[in-house]
Amino acid sequence: MNDSSSTESPGKQGDTDMPQSHPRYQSLITRHRIEEGVNAGITSTQGLIAEGRGEAFDYLLGERTIASADEAARAAAALLLDAEHPVISVNGNVAALVPEAIVELAKMVNADIEVNLFNRTEERMKAIADHLHDHGAETVRGLKADGQIPGLDHERATVDSDGIGAADVVLVPLEDGDRAAALDAVGKHEIVIDLNPLSRSAVAATVPIIDNVLRAVPNITAHAVELKQANNIALTAVVDRFDPDEARERAEKEIRRGELE
Ligand code: ATP
Repeated sequence: MNDSSSTESPGKQGDTDMPQSHPRYQSLITRHRIEEGVNAGITSTQGLIAEGRGEAFDYLLGERTIASADEAARAAAALLLDAEHPVISVNGNVAALVPEAIVELAKMVNADIEVNLFNRTEERMKAIADHLHDHGAETVRGLKADGQIPGLDHERATVDSDGIGAADVVLVPLEDGDRAAALDAVGKHEIVIDLNPLSRSAVAATVPIIDNVLRAVPNITAHAVELKQANNIALTAVVDRFDPDEARERAEKEIRRGELE
């Protein structure tokens, strides 16, 4: 289990030279990456607000991966490895925070990467795709935009027909609730990473991971490494044993208890 911060190497993305011993190191690095993302045209200004909301939950969780989130990350790894066509959906915050970790995970579970934005502009789509290529991605989908997910307004529904359109499992870190529900309605299994256990996206997910995306993405990869040799029966058993409602309830309890070390 990954209980520390991201695998993204500080410095690589222009992170500050903040000492790792700083008590709010992870939070300051996160803010810095989001700010850089906005400056680079990758992250929307709305993304700053979303990050702020997430930070409040993370503070109350003690900025650590709780046991139920680790179990969820393991179920997510099993679901991705067992999928016919897994896709990792990337928005502006995810691209700014964990580009390397997303590329590593995609390679490990053989998933496509697709850019999918709430505030979609061709410029931002291209900036994010370029950013992911700079961090090692080979193919980045989302620019073809020849498919639609029913039940959403035009821009947010737009996908690649051979990417998210054809996926059976979609990892949607930091997704808004409407799109999560729309993907669920067309029968796609969803893995959601969201620090808010009550958010509509976490509720709609087959596997909700209540954790910071900085910790959750490398943690899924670590579990995938361990489960790589498991057969389909064993992978299905890992997913079946996971209870999404219980995982969300355990996270909510931790947050409400809010005992800080
Ligand atoms: P929903 O529409 O799903 O009910 P929402 O309206 O709160 O939720 P948004 O504001 O679109 O959703 O997205 C922000 C969500 O992302 C929040 O739930 C927040 O907790 C979460 N979030 C923000 N930053 C992170 C992060 N670094 N890691 C995990 N989750 C995060």
